Amino acid sequence: MQRKTLRGTLEIEGFGIHSGKLSRLRIHPAVNDGGAIIFRKGGTDIKASPYNVVDVSYATVLGENGISIRTVEHLMSALYGCGITDAVVEVEGEEVPIMDGSALEFVRYIKDVGVEELDKPRRVIRVVEPFRVEEGDAFVEALPVDDERMHIECTISYDHPYLNHQRIDLIFDEESYEREVAPARTYCFYEQIRFLLQRGLGRGGNYKNVVVIGKEGILNGPARFEDEPVRHKVLDLLGDLALAGGFVIGKIRAYKSGHALHNRFLREFMASNAYEILQGTGIAM
Ligand SMILES: [Zn+2]
Repeated sequence: MQRKTLRGTLEIEGFGIHSGKLSRLRIHPAVNDGGAIIFRKGGTDIKASPYNVVDVSYATVLGENGISIRTVEHLMSALYGCGITDAVVEVEGEEVPIMDGSALEFVRYIKDVGVEELDKPRRVIRVVEPFRVEEGDAFVEALPVDDERMHIECTISYDHPYLNHQRIDLIFDEESYEREVAPARTYCFYEQIRFLLQRGLGRGGNYKNVVVIGKEGILNGPARFEDEPVRHKVLDLLGDLALAGGFVIGKIRAYKSGHALHNRFLREFMASNAYEILQGTGIAM
């Protein structure tokens, strides 16, 4: 398994889901130290790493030295899903654009410009013993497996008349990612909208980029999948796991998790003895 970058520079423009403001990305091919995605803004470089996550409420925010970039998770998910290990993401604006609420457009941009394999081994992390973090009844855990693949099991559960319990189990690879995960859009409950707006969040959200769930069903259907919300949760989980900068051999099980628990899991897992590095260098610090 080799590290990969882009064949050319991508230019992407769009509105931030929370800020509602226009931002512009230029994603450049790169060969970064040890393999990493680097975000660049105003002359500051921020390595995509669990240790540079500065906020986890409603989105994953990377920051360093007072410079921050909001809502990196869908782009990180798309890069990870396409096997891109090395790139520089130049950001003009405060947030990564939401696009259609999924990772599909990012994947299409990446495929269109093309992917180039580097002559360097990719970091591969194998889970060697069970490891789990919990918060109330929510948890994220890593389990050893007896093959060489990355298994994902994800469950969401809400006390809601329409969306109560969804679970998905899949083997992660580039094909399954593009087909089963990337098209799933972010979602919110109709009753949540006022709360979000009052807090200055969700200003760029609309019926085209968020699946809005009312008591009797989706208000802006049709859905792309019957279980689109749990697939989006997998998309977010992969975007957060991508910060570890490696392919994981093991099973990741997430139950009622969110960005905060994903980040705590990564920090504690990377500091544990529950894994070994099979090739490539250690965790992106
Ligand atoms: Zn999301």
